[in-house]
Amino acid sequence: MSDEPALQPETLAAQALHAVDPASGGVVPPIQPSTTFARDEHYRLISPGHGYSRDENPTYEAAEALLARLEGGRAARLFASGKAAAAAVVQALEPGDHVVAPRVMYWGVRQFLVDFAARWGLGLDFFDGTDTEALARAIRPGQTKLVWIETPCNPTFDVIDIAAAARLARDAGARLAVDSTVASPVLTRPLELGADLVMHSATKYLNGHSDVVAGALAVREEDSFWTGVCSNRAGYGAVLGPFEAWLLLRGMRTLYLRVRQASASALAIARHFDGRAEVAAVLYPGLGSHPGHEIARRQMDGGFGGMLSLQVAGGAEAALAVATQCRVFQRATSLGGVESLIEHRATIEGPGSPIPDDLLRLSVGIEAADDLIADLERAFDGRP
Ligand code: PLP
Repeated sequence: MSDEPALQPETLAAQALHAVDPASGGVVPPIQPSTTFARDEHYRLISPGHGYSRDENPTYEAAEALLARLEGGRAARLFASGKAAAAAVVQALEPGDHVVAPRVMYWGVRQFLVDFAARWGLGLDFFDGTDTEALARAIRPGQTKLVWIETPCNPTFDVIDIAAAARLARDAGARLAVDSTVASPVLTRPLELGADLVMHSATKYLNGHSDVVAGALAVREEDSFWTGVCSNRAGYGAVLGPFEAWLLLRGMRTLYLRVRQASASALAIARHFDGRAEVAAVLYPGLGSHPGHEIARRQMDGGFGGMLSLQVAGGAEAALAVATQCRVFQRATSLGGVESLIEHRATIEGPGSPIPDDLLRLSVGIEAADDLIADLERAFDGRP
């Protein structure tokens, strides 16, 4: 039996798994920048498992070990970006396999699925993410090998029932992968709800400081599919690099504080603008009126996340006018950083985007919520 104390995830994160550098005693895990690792006079690797940094490096492993613990998984791997992590999963499928995914999801991954499925000979169907029955109808037992979901879905923040999706996938012989970027392990642990894989754009909350592009996967079982995913990372060379891995680990140490603050402020903003004449809709799973609120209460613990969207009465022009008047929110894409961002998604996604053109997506940071609310108030009033 392990004599390790049973610690809360925020303790594990804050201490980076109680890291102590054996060489110096430092309480900060060191960066190992070496691309290659030496062998001894018997031609054995001096540090078993470390041969070349395209495949393995102790700095990646420190962040991976922490993420695996926070997600309750058996293992985790870092990737060069969130999209590289998603691609490594999809590229582990065989031609002829069938994939289902929600119609509204992060557009970059959706576009990758469409393009790659066409070239690789995968079947691909999209379903209405708000409707579990629609997922059941989209799955083809025996042929569907991957159910990909994202919850809350960026940028409408619809909520998908992870446990129900896991049951449907399992009954059909498929795997469930969950893009949990928006929730982060602070609020949702998909593997404990039955998912097989959890994916993050670690560029967002895991890192939290808008200074690293990174992706990550964690897995419930280290099976042959996972081996295929890992060999895709090495095979395509989609690794992160030690400096970025180190920055990511540093960011993860404050993950719990950041996500809880962002969630509390996002809820305050959602409540403040809900029902206002100048706002056609507030899309936030923390509101009791949100269609996914009950599911969110079941599978999100300690908050509903730092992301919300506002649909502005008056359409695209009015929405863009609000975005351009903001002085505290930065007008920029991305999410999950300490600074708040506002974005007109339809402009960013371009023609063919399913996102309503009156929608502004907010990524709420850790600033004072009152400053953020006052900024939006001013912008809605058209005050400079
Ligand atoms: N998944 C979600 C929900 C995202 O928001 C993003 C990026 O915005 C990605 C995946 C892709 O991640 P990355 O930009 O790190 O490739």
